[in-house]
Amino acid sequence: MDFEALFVTKSSDGQTCISIGRAQSSQLPPGEVVIRVAYSSLNYKDALAARGHPGIVKKFPHVPGIDVAGAVEESGVYEFVPGDPVIVTGYELGAERWGGYAEFVRVPADWVLPLPKGLDFVDAMTLGTAGLTAGLCVDALLSHGISTEKGQIVVSGASGGVGSIAVAILGKLGFDVVAVTGKAHAHELLRELGAGSVVGREAVLADPEKPLLSGRWAGGVDTVGGDMLSSILRATKHSGCVAACGLAGGAHLRMTVYPFILRGVTLAGIDAAWQPLAKKAAIWERFAGPWRIEKLDRLRTMVPLKDLPMWFDRILNGEVMGRIVVEVG
Ligand code: NDP
Repeated sequence: MDFEALFVTKSSDGQTCISIGRAQSSQLPPGEVVIRVAYSSLNYKDALAARGHPGIVKKFPHVPGIDVAGAVEESGVYEFVPGDPVIVTGYELGAERWGGYAEFVRVPADWVLPLPKGLDFVDAMTLGTAGLTAGLCVDALLSHGISTEKGQIVVSGASGGVGSIAVAILGKLGFDVVAVTGKAHAHELLRELGAGSVVGREAVLADPEKPLLSGRWAGGVDTVGGDMLSSILRATKHSGCVAACGLAGGAHLRMTVYPFILRGVTLAGIDAAWQPLAKKAAIWERFAGPWRIEKLDRLRTMVPLKDLPMWFDRILNGEVMGRIVVEVG
């Protein structure tokens, strides 16, 4: 069997190159379940993988794509039979091993979830790893006792994939959400999704020399990292919680321990890729139930696999709004 895939290759001078070509099923890595991919999605990590980021891609040629939705083609386990609609997000998919920018993937059975009831493939990939991450961030805030009466929740990188879905979930749960965005044209969408107010990055970024700022936030979802995360933590009220998942604005944190030891602020680190499958399933169930986002179509742009390469720079430059769903099959 031969089929289409997006390859990242590296030349002897260290340059990476992206091309769409034909692949053979013999190239697929080992695993119990072969999936005929219908849709994938574009995440920040996919763009890093497409650029051959050494922290993500270990060998070339590489097929990125950390999210997959499609039908089981072959199964070596009784839990799945050909034709079953399934999803896979994270683990090594599209990072250490062959990912979803190909018409077929082969994966270990314990990475595979049945497509959550009430979601179709396109909805599932509109959420994808970004949605799962946003869901885990909200779950962390709720687990730390952050409730609507405690005050405002700030979401940074709000127009991006994780940020926009976090705004939608928190808005749905009745929180007063302050969405922070660098995009003037995203304000209307963010209000529609559920933000109570939308502000520019400069309204939150503060002098890094100040160890504490006046308490503004009951909690936060930070997708940006760097000085944005530091500013949010220093302006979080007593016993507040900030879920940190990203580094779109930087990996270094310039701050002191004062927010933690004087205000009891919790910094909740979020990793979506390696969550146990049962935890992923629990978050997906909420998306099909109490967290259901009615305006998912407002969040997505559909992109055929052949047009995907031009989107890698856009997401790395912070220019993407909402989610990119990749049409593969
Ligand atoms: P997106 O590119 O869709 O969103 C990131 C957003 O951050 C941008 O849209 C922009 O939003 C903002 N931003 C970008 N650059 C800067 C900057 N220099 N300074 C301040 N803000 C900036 O990416 P995703 O939503 O897919 O991912 C967001 C982050 O979360 C990434 O760092 C990604 O690696 C991480 N991530 C982590 C996961 C985990 O498991 N820990 C899983 C998934 C993602 P705006 O213009 O609205 O300000």
